[in-house]
Amino acid sequence: MQMPFASSFVRSPAALRDHPALVLNADYRPLSYFPLSLWPWQEAVKASFLDRVVIVAEYDTTVRSPSLEIRLPSVVVLKDYVKPAAYPAFTRFNLFLRDEFTCQYCGAKGEMTFDHVLPRSRGGRTTWQNVVAACGRCNLRKSDKTVKDAGMSLARRPMQPTAAELQNVGRKFPPNHLHESWMDYLYWDAELEA
Ligand SMILES: [Zn+2]
Repeated sequence: MQMPFASSFVRSPAALRDHPALVLNADYRPLSYFPLSLWPWQEAVKASFLDRVVIVAEYDTTVRSPSLEIRLPSVVVLKDYVKPAAYPAFTRFNLFLRDEFTCQYCGAKGEMTFDHVLPRSRGGRTTWQNVVAACGRCNLRKSDKTVKDAGMSLARRPMQPTAAELQNVGRKFPPNHLHESWMDYLYWDAELEA
């Protein structure tokens, strides 16, 4: 059989763009919670034909190539386990995620900025232990003072998170759209509390 790569499928972009597949690691847990690990259906179909994933759930929607018709995968599992890095990269996104997009001084949520706990002007470094998410107001108020001099306090001491800790935080942020076939594989805190 000829390898039916995604490009050989007849597709109607508007109808199919919205059929991403949830990607699970070989242990049936999402590769990532936030952002949730999703592939475009083309990727999922291709990986399936390359024998890299097993399809465990499908959409009702089908696509056709000249030689076959298939249902679009809605959940796929990797055959080979991907070992996550023990410690996530120190990035803007991961830092905000660690702090749950919450100002570490006043608890405000929303648009966040970075704040150096010990200001750079006093030798403070840009590390997990010295940078926190802060709202614009608190950042301005603290300016280049120490926490104590500014008369402020931190919600908690900033630490380097492990990958597992960050995954757990990510579970608090489910995306807006979740397909029903994904639910068996996702454990959102919101759902557990309901
Ligand atoms: Zn604040």
